[in-house]
Amino acid sequence: MTLDLDLDAAMGRALELAAAAQEWGDTPIGALVLGPDGAVLAEAANEREKRGDPTAHAEVLALRAAAEQHGDGWRLTGCTLVVTLEPCTMCAGASVLSRVDRVVYGADDPKAGAAGSLWDVVRDRRLNHRPEVTAGVRAEESATLLRAFFRAQRGL
Ligand SMILES: [Zn+2]
Repeated sequence: MTLDLDLDAAMGRALELAAAAQEWGDTPIGALVLGPDGAVLAEAANEREKRGDPTAHAEVLALRAAAEQHGDGWRLTGCTLVVTLEPCTMCAGASVLSRVDRVVYGADDPKAGAAGSLWDVVRDRRLNHRPEVTAGVRAEESATLLRAFFRAQRGL
């Protein structure tokens, strides 16, 4: 079922999107959605500060944009969500609701992660859709980007 996707390259693009987010003052997190054929359907960066919208996480923006492109209504069956940081509860929930086949992420988020760290919303057996999870893709690059951002925020 799972295509042999070039996850390193996809995560490389997500990391570029993440780096762009800090230019407008948002925490550097980037996401993209790959279609069933592995092509990029949509990409987004965290825009919470930019939009003043608490729900404007990179994953939610990418999933929304992908659904517009996908041509199967809201269902993203066969698609893969790629994101630089482990999804939070909202984004893990959104990935379940969107019916993506797979969630691929970079760094773990021990403070808010909902794909295995604090919760495992994505693979909760009580839900009727459970995307496959691949963790740790280019994790160190994502963690380095986040650490540098928060260090700069603290003025260090
Ligand atoms: Zn989120």
